[in-house]
Amino acid sequence: MADQLPHKILIVGGGTAGWMAAAALSRMLAHRVEITLVESDAIGTVGVGEATIPPIRSFNQILGIDEAEFMEQTKATYKLGIEFENWTREGHSYFHPFGLYGASPDARYLHHYWLKLASEGTVPPLDEFSICAQAAKRGRCGMPSGDASSVLSAFGSAFHFDAGLYAAYLRRYAEARRVTRIEGRVEAVKLRGSDGFIEAVTLEGGRTLEADFFIDCSGFRGLLIEEALGAGYDDWTRWLPCDRAVAVPCARMGKTNPYTRSVAHRAGWRWRIPLQHRTGNGVVYASQHMSDDEALAHLMGNLDGEALAEPNFLRFRTGVRRKFWDKNCLALGLSSGFMEPLESTSIHLIQAGITKLLDFFPGHDFKVANTAEYNRLARVEFEEVRDFLILHYFATERTDSDFWNYCRTMSIPETLQRRIALFRAYGRIPPRAYDLFTSTSWIAVFLGQAVVPEGYDPLVDAHDITSIRERLESARHRIRQAAEGLPAHDELISHLLTRARRVA
Ligand SMILES: Cc1cc2nc3c(=O)[nH]c(=O)nc-3n(C[C@H](O)[C@H](O)[C@H](O)COP(=O)(O)OP(=O)(O)OC[C@H]3O[C@@H](n4cnc5c(N)ncnc54)[C@H](O)[C@@H]3O)c2cc1C
Repeated sequence: MADQLPHKILIVGGGTAGWMAAAALSRMLAHRVEITLVESDAIGTVGVGEATIPPIRSFNQILGIDEAEFMEQTKATYKLGIEFENWTREGHSYFHPFGLYGASPDARYLHHYWLKLASEGTVPPLDEFSICAQAAKRGRCGMPSGDASSVLSAFGSAFHFDAGLYAAYLRRYAEARRVTRIEGRVEAVKLRGSDGFIEAVTLEGGRTLEADFFIDCSGFRGLLIEEALGAGYDDWTRWLPCDRAVAVPCARMGKTNPYTRSVAHRAGWRWRIPLQHRTGNGVVYASQHMSDDEALAHLMGNLDGEALAEPNFLRFRTGVRRKFWDKNCLALGLSSGFMEPLESTSIHLIQAGITKLLDFFPGHDFKVANTAEYNRLARVEFEEVRDFLILHYFATERTDSDFWNYCRTMSIPETLQRRIALFRAYGRIPPRAYDLFTSTSWIAVFLGQAVVPEGYDPLVDAHDITSIRERLESARHRIRQAAEGLPAHDELISHLLTRARRVA
């Protein structure tokens, strides 16, 4: 059979999405396929995506990236979870840890045993069974262990990094693997008369770039997928009403913590993301309930250090493209849809899109069944993220503003209704579709936001309660000891930076 691969791939856009796609495709294909990326410095990037979730580690592994070098070049810190303040009610906080709640006696999730003990008396907070939560609270950090008997086998971590430096790092990676970058502004997209496939894009000045396969990473506008192909957009603002953000970096704190802070306010929330050289801050808000001036005042009034740039206002419309992939064009990143950064999911959705692209890589005839399955799976992933985000707003006791009264009483998607009912019944979490949120994430947010199950997995009652109590107590003790034995977060980073400099 003749070679089925498309011969030329053109990536339009050089933000995080464009360079992640270029890096991954260059690793797999650059020796067989011509890969070009076109971007316009004059248009620029969004560039505020700074927090990630643990699957980013597998992306780095696939690229063969050295972690110490990566940390050095992107000014990264580690992230062991997110601290949520004022979400359930004002003055309340909870921690969404990565990794697992440890020490279940069998394949069941630990919280079932914890719920049983709670039903019979007092139990320590569930956080005390999470190595990530315990390490984060102490400002400490480590590395996962492959030894199943070690407490650190339940460890999970991601990164905070400088988004601009991340894109630049991936650009160097991709260009070293034969990706060609072209500077230029795409002005027109030419469709083939016979079937509406994209044939070429034309740049300002008239240069034409042809390709067989186009990857649209052009940002919110969706230059190819929407403006040329009219894929359509489903608006999810009725469930996720925040539609603006204002961001500003400030001088770093003395000590960096290995977690993101998310603090709810009367019409949204604000983030704090510690990097090696600065702290990222932003306020996300619903413009119907908060003015730009008020959001800016809230942002500037809550900085830990001197502001290092002018505040950057961003507008967005939460939702998803009806087709991620249409004909010979796949959208990745903001051109495929956007949900606010509450759980740091956008970069992950880019990664998930690339992974799926490699699972469903097209032949040059772009068979419809292949494209349709990609679109189906991507939709499931976006909807799971959507539901997880909605849960934070809906499962609240806050009554202090019109915004929270709306969120608390809004009608939610049927998929989330089912999840909540299932959790309330026996504390169960349905199996995952793809590698998105672990059950730990759902359990942490459900319990953190006071969605308390009426029961637990009945099979737990097959175990002797005294031995469960002892087992959990021993696990709690080992987790505390392990957390106390980890290096301070800054110490771990400085150790890695020294290693990176020695190798360079
Ligand atoms: C407030 C906010 C906070 C966020 N925080 C996080 C976070 O913590 N974690 C996370 O995972 N995600 C976060 N995100 C999302 C994240 O920023 C994006 O997913 C990520 O930056 C990917 O953007 P992109 O590459 O798709 O688009 P962009 O960054 O917009 O890049 C678009 C590219 O297309 C090019 N382009 C556009 N038009 C043309 C044209 N006509 N010709 C040539 N080139 C063109 C531009 O030059 C640019 O290179 C956040 C987003 C917002 C709005």
